Amino acid sequence: MSPGTPWDLVVIGGGITGAGIARDAARRGLRVLLLEKGDFASGTSSRSGKLVHGGLRYLKHLHLGMVWESCRERDLLARAVAPHLLRPVRFHLPHYSWSRTPGWVVGFGLCLYDLLSRFRAPRARAVSAEALLNEAPGLDPQKLRGGHSYSDCACLDFRLVIDTLLDAQDHGAQIRNYTEVTRISFVEDGVTVQYSGESVGARAVVNASGAWADSVLSRSGSPERFGLRNSRGVHLVFRKRDLPLRSAFALENPADGRSIYAVPWEDYVLVGTSDLPHGDPDQVTVTREETGYLLEVLARYFPRLSRNDVHASYAGVRPLIGSDSSVKEEKLSRDHEMRVDPRGLLSITGGKLTTFRRMAEEAVDALAKEFFPHRKLAPCTTRAPLPTKKWPDAERLTDEDLERLVRVERVRHLEDLLCRRLPTFLFTADRGRAAAPGLATRLGRLLSWTEETMGAETRRYLALLEADEREPS
Ligand SMILES: Cc1cc2nc3c(=O)[nH]c(=O)nc-3n(C[C@H](O)[C@H](O)[C@H](O)COP(=O)(O)OP(=O)(O)OC[C@H]3O[C@@H](n4cnc5c(N)ncnc54)[C@H](O)[C@@H]3O)c2cc1C
Repeated sequence: MSPGTPWDLVVIGGGITGAGIARDAARRGLRVLLLEKGDFASGTSSRSGKLVHGGLRYLKHLHLGMVWESCRERDLLARAVAPHLLRPVRFHLPHYSWSRTPGWVVGFGLCLYDLLSRFRAPRARAVSAEALLNEAPGLDPQKLRGGHSYSDCACLDFRLVIDTLLDAQDHGAQIRNYTEVTRISFVEDGVTVQYSGESVGARAVVNASGAWADSVLSRSGSPERFGLRNSRGVHLVFRKRDLPLRSAFALENPADGRSIYAVPWEDYVLVGTSDLPHGDPDQVTVTREETGYLLEVLARYFPRLSRNDVHASYAGVRPLIGSDSSVKEEKLSRDHEMRVDPRGLLSITGGKLTTFRRMAEEAVDALAKEFFPHRKLAPCTTRAPLPTKKWPDAERLTDEDLERLVRVERVRHLEDLLCRRLPTFLFTADRGRAAAPGLATRLGRLLSWTEETMGAETRRYLALLEADEREPS
């Protein structure tokens, strides 16, 4: 480590895990630099199911500790940390004569879910077939027996990341996107981190690179690995007029017993997800197989829905931990794992969007103990509220808004703005098509782009839309 190095900590990864750790470390008094190889939240943290939940489906696999912890985190985030981002969602579970899980088992599971939630969320209850048809007018009424309802929360995942990073920045952290860490070297009193032709010294490094955690570990020369079993999940977006839902639905696939969720987002409905083994997290696309799987489950409940009704889609990679290859992805625990190399490296991966606060608390406590034992750091700050920032629709952004988005939220490409600062890409009618050229010109003025770059940025965004709207292969 070079003398007078400005950083105590370099955090690798600008997803929710890295953002949460950078925020708490900066608030406790450490000098933090966060490096993200793409845009912030461009990894898994913008491709989740956007639920902040206990995880009813994990009850089935008896991951009781994780469900209990997730329910507690959900309530903390909703009440104290991010009430501006979390909204309560009421889920309905329809029960048919052909359903795989008996109604009484569902009822019992929901009682347990309420118990693990410590009855903090509105209680689960049985509902009639009429009530279900009222919530979902397109639901197949044939052989519908009734069902249950229960409560969880939803949250725009990428905004949770950005708002967390903004708070880290407000407390002195420096955050850089489009900066890939290529090497971590251990030196006498810390580490040297190389990125984009530069290098910087720090007392310690946090590897919070999610599905890339083993690849980042290999860049440190350490033989340590998590042995990640990455798994891919796909989501589809429908217009509410094609899939009219007044509340969310959890739909069990009678063929394999898995449940998929359908959650309304203003004029849209988000449906997911699948769970299949995946290799390289840099190469992730929606496949025909997974789209077909989700449509097949939907068709059991909403027979009028077709492939042509898909408005948008995306795929993401879960960093799952589990060495037993005989256990299927969906049964693997969503717990996180942390490894500390006393030479100056803490690696943390796994977990859920929902549990990011707890992961940050654990990681920064461990960093303080291991690498800063003589520094008087403030106690954990992860329960403090996040700053609130609400942007207008893309078409209504003023020059002042755009200037702030570039300067403070570090928008560097048109795609950053429309996919990961605003929900334009997923949840608007024309998905930003009309606004793209004008926004590219205005961003170009702020970022000193040439005319050619402005054109290229627009074309790149439109190509992204086109690729998404093409039939998956
Ligand atoms: C389909 C799906 C649905 C999900 N649904 C939910 C849900 O509803 N609720 C929930 O709680 N959780 C959900 N999850 C889990 C949740 O999304 C993840 O646990 C979480 O987003 C992981 O965050 P992360 O920061 O660890 O990883 P990421 O968000 O992937 O962040 C890691 C970052 O590290 C960066 N990086 C990698 N290598 C380098 C390098 N060398 N230099 C610099 N940066 C680097 C990557 O670019 C990436 O942005 C879901 C996951 C998937 C895949």
